[in-house]
Amino acid sequence: MFDIVPIPAFDDNYIWLLKRECSPEVAVVDPGDAAPVLAYLQHEQLSLGTILITHHHGDHTGGIRQLKGRFPHAKVYGSAHESIPGITDSLVEGAEVELPWRGDRLKVLDMPGHTAGHIAYLGDGVLFCGDIVFAGGCGRVFDGTMEQMAASLQRIAKLPEETLLYCAHEYTEDNLGFALWVEPGNRAIKARQKATQIARQQGKPTVPSRLSLELESNPFLRTQIPAVVAAAEKWAAMPLSNNAAIFTALRRWKDRDYD
Ligand code: ZN
Ligand code: FE
Repeated sequence: MFDIVPIPAFDDNYIWLLKRECSPEVAVVDPGDAAPVLAYLQHEQLSLGTILITHHHGDHTGGIRQLKGRFPHAKVYGSAHESIPGITDSLVEGAEVELPWRGDRLKVLDMPGHTAGHIAYLGDGVLFCGDIVFAGGCGRVFDGTMEQMAASLQRIAKLPEETLLYCAHEYTEDNLGFALWVEPGNRAIKARQKATQIARQQGKPTVPSRLSLELESNPFLRTQIPAVVAAAEKWAAMPLSNNAAIFTALRRWKDRDYD
């Protein structure tokens, strides 16, 4: 298994860097900004072999050009369903991506919703999930649909519980505030909120997060739980008969009243 290092970018993005001791070449996920990646590589005397892109938004792709300029041989992987300048290898569901050393591969999962062609990369117990699921929350729905996003989140919910979710933003504290709007009586959320506040005061990232923790405290992965259904129905002021409808109400509630 490879090491994963967070490189903070902009206000609240994480660019994940994947490396293995045996290899001078590393991979990065969603380099929205080249500068902090180049600084890390220079400091550690490493070079870049692979860039993995989850979706087309600028805060995930903005560094591609400059990184390619510095490392022209680097492969740039991205969704076949999105047009992203600089992509060298287009990926579809089920494709496998080689990392720049022998023995580790990542599998591509289609995860539309935040954008229409969003993909995630699944490795040995780790998921690089871009802006689909966040710690305690989920991405907004831009050029995908609410139904797609609901289905993508359900797909994540069914991965092994110990899976670590490497999302692209540090939004945890804010997300847990909304989680408590939905489930004011949920003790797992309150405990998580405390732990998150302490970590942030110490300047520590709160991601990756374990799927088991998300299943206890992330309302967008709890759309089967009666208290969550009841809260969504109360906000929507009507009965909600399926998972996509419950998800949609939660997402609209957060968009309109909380954010
Ligand atoms: Zn995005
Ligand atoms: Fe983003």
